[in-house]
Amino acid sequence: MVNLAIEQYLDDMHSQQAAPEEILEWAWKTFAPAVAASSSFQTQSVPLLHMISRVCPELPVIFVDTGFHFPGTLAFRDMLQERLGLNIVVARPERTPDELAQEYGEDLFRHDPDLCCYLNKVKPLQQALEGMCAWVTGVRHDQTASRGQMRSLEPQLSGVVKIHPLLRWTREMLEEYRRRYALPAHPLHEFGYLSVGCAPCTHPVLKADDERAGRWAGTGKRECGLHLDLGSVKDVRGE
Ligand code: SF4
Repeated sequence: MVNLAIEQYLDDMHSQQAAPEEILEWAWKTFAPAVAASSSFQTQSVPLLHMISRVCPELPVIFVDTGFHFPGTLAFRDMLQERLGLNIVVARPERTPDELAQEYGEDLFRHDPDLCCYLNKVKPLQQALEGMCAWVTGVRHDQTASRGQMRSLEPQLSGVVKIHPLLRWTREMLEEYRRRYALPAHPLHEFGYLSVGCAPCTHPVLKADDERAGRWAGTGKRECGLHLDLGSVKDVRGE
């Protein structure tokens, strides 16, 4: 469905410094109803969620409930849903944390975090995106070196096209947006959790640190796999 003309169009929008809201509007008009966003419902997710609520409130927002989230994340998600009127779709893995432990042993996140992320995040998201043509994310260039290489429109092997409206925004720009609209922060933000994922794999960091430095700290792992090509992840795991 996506061709070079669309890619060129989106790049043109960027070269003209299109606002994220314009990109969101374009994505909705171009792909609806076969488009969804995903969100981990942390502090830096809030501006994009607020933009969605203003521009395309019907856009499904997929939240992958791994079973390992902090209770504060689930409460924050529910509060944002009520305040912003979001169309949240919860995706869940096939196994509960107990079933996962029975099948793979205790603490899979410790002895095989890639498999844990695949079973609990990547696969449920793949399933939630089935039938979709486009997937809107909150990825930004300034988050990690690998994200710095991403393009605003990325066709995936799975056939879904990833769209990153905030790709060129910085952490400071997100903070400024939150201040302008008096939007809340994740309850763990004030305790140094600049990026919040599953509880066993998230640690607080210093303000000057890389935003994602507290994710899988000390393991060398930097991504859960959601932002690798979903088609290639599927091939690697052979499921
Ligand atoms: S972030 Fe940790 S607990 Fe969550 S799915 Fe990945 S390895 Fe498992």
